[in-house]
Amino acid sequence: TVVTRFAPSPTGFLHIGGARTALFNWLYARGRGGRFLLRIEDTDRARSTDQATQAILDGMAWLGLDHDGEVISQYERAERHREVALDLLDKGEAYKCFSTQDEIQTFRDTARAEGRSTLFQSPWRDADPATHPDAPYVIRIKAPRDGATVIADRVQGDVTIRNDQLDDMVLLRSDGSPVYMLAVAVDDHDMGVTHVIRGDDHLNNAARQMLIYTAMGWPLPVYAHIPLIHGPDGKKLSKRHGALGVDEYQKMGYPAAGMRNYLARLGWSHGDDEFFTDAQAQEWFDLSGIGKSPARFDFKKLENLCGQHIAASDDAALLHELQGFLAATGQPALSGPRLSLMETGMYCLKERARTFPELLEKAEFILAERPIRPDEKAAAQLDDVSRSILKELTPHLRNARWSREDLEAAAMQFAESIDVKFGKLAGPLRAALAGRSATPSVFDMMLVLGRDETIARLSDAAC
Ligand code: GLU
Repeated sequence: TVVTRFAPSPTGFLHIGGARTALFNWLYARGRGGRFLLRIEDTDRARSTDQATQAILDGMAWLGLDHDGEVISQYERAERHREVALDLLDKGEAYKCFSTQDEIQTFRDTARAEGRSTLFQSPWRDADPATHPDAPYVIRIKAPRDGATVIADRVQGDVTIRNDQLDDMVLLRSDGSPVYMLAVAVDDHDMGVTHVIRGDDHLNNAARQMLIYTAMGWPLPVYAHIPLIHGPDGKKLSKRHGALGVDEYQKMGYPAAGMRNYLARLGWSHGDDEFFTDAQAQEWFDLSGIGKSPARFDFKKLENLCGQHIAASDDAALLHELQGFLAATGQPALSGPRLSLMETGMYCLKERARTFPELLEKAEFILAERPIRPDEKAAAQLDDVSRSILKELTPHLRNARWSREDLEAAAMQFAESIDVKFGKLAGPLRAALAGRSATPSVFDMMLVLGRDETIARLSDAAC
């Protein structure tokens, strides 16, 4: 079975690039009945924080990227990483190196002066253990000196790195602590990871991690290094262009399904399909659809997709997510009569809203209380003439059966009888019912508010 993983370092928020990496791994595993694992790379004790780990977990939960099994802490596995280094030592694939920092520096200076490669070549690589001093040492891998390491990358193609460009990297420091590169290789192997999908800033690391796999005789995973996300200007993604934590996107009110859809399309494509469901994304996602050049972040596209997802959402699920948005932005939850009106009205609120703030703006007719205070634009609709028209219209509506057809018929008939186009009535009606001009249709508002509330608001406005 397929096993993928997301392996963030808990040193900040879950940024948009990390979220996309997590999503790709999640899609790949979920679409193949595989497992998606989460490993927190917390070996850098100075930079890792619990808040950052929590932010990653929260961000993934919000995005709906559920992982299988326990969250794995890389730091807690240090003993196992050491064990593998010692195993490599036993196998003769690694050696103790007693060179001091000064000696290494001297080696480099000389090499530079003589125009040779400055990659350190330890004199201890082939030393007889009997000659080992009683002094601090590091454990280095015996990297191949000739030939090349080829990363058969599923996105980048074959990437060849000459072995004389890889030094005998340190596996264990002199204090016995394992280095990051060892930890990653050992963890990926032990976790049974079959596919390593991550940012292409890790491409060079793959060659070094492969050395460890090979020295241990482990089968290699499939590698897929994805190009980083760029801003709309083609440059490295900046804050202004979207390099934010996913929590910021949640607070801006983007629905998670729209976010997933957009992030999936960021660097991966399936024909001309832009809008798709999770089920489709899981079915379609494949490494061959990942592009070789960096994707550009585009807020307009994100908003469009979010609008489509809001419109396509199930009403109850949308309301639930709206409550989550309110909580995330420190606003009170919807409850009581307003909550039930929101339930009733969701069908019309979700049309043409791209974010939750936009949806809430359309919901103002539900959230506002009588007397409705029209904003400036709406107030302009309520001049003397239109107020008297509203006054005349009100009894026709009051006596209508409270259905869309009957309300429409009553309003049309009335408009005809005073010889105005119905369009002329819509503005004042919106102003009276909602106090603003961006609203659902007037009949939707009447149906959601019900007869009593509608008539009361019309009467308020007419006097
Ligand atoms: N911890 C690394 C990062 O956050 C990822 C390592 C990996 O995926 O192998 O960039």
